[in-house]
Amino acid sequence: MAKNTNINLFPWQYIHYNNIISQHQMKKSHHAIIIKSNQNIGTFELIWNISKWILCTNKQEKNSCNKCNSCILMNNNNHPDWYHIKKKNTP
Ligand SMILES: [Zn+2]
Repeated sequence: MAKNTNINLFPWQYIHYNNIISQHQMKKSHHAIIIKSNQNIGTFELIWNISKWILCTNKQEKNSCNKCNSCILMNNNNHPDWYHIKKKNTP
C-alpha cells in the first residue's frame, strides 16, 4: 500500500485512512462514521485528513491537493463545512 505523501499520520492509521477514502471513491461510503479511540493517539488528525480529502475540490487519488480554496480553508481551520464537536473540558 502506497504511503500518502502529503498527509502526516501515524503508520497504523494509513490503513484506516485508505479504507475510508477507497469506500468513498467507490461510492460505498456511509453518511456518517463514528470512530471511538483512546485520546491523544492521532485520531483527530486521521479524521481531519479524511475530512480535508472529502472537502478538497481537486483531489489527487488519495491525497488532498493542499492548494484549492477548500484545502486552504481547512489548513487555516476556517472551513465553513468543518465542525469539530468536542465534549466540555477536553483539549
Ligand atoms: Zn484541495
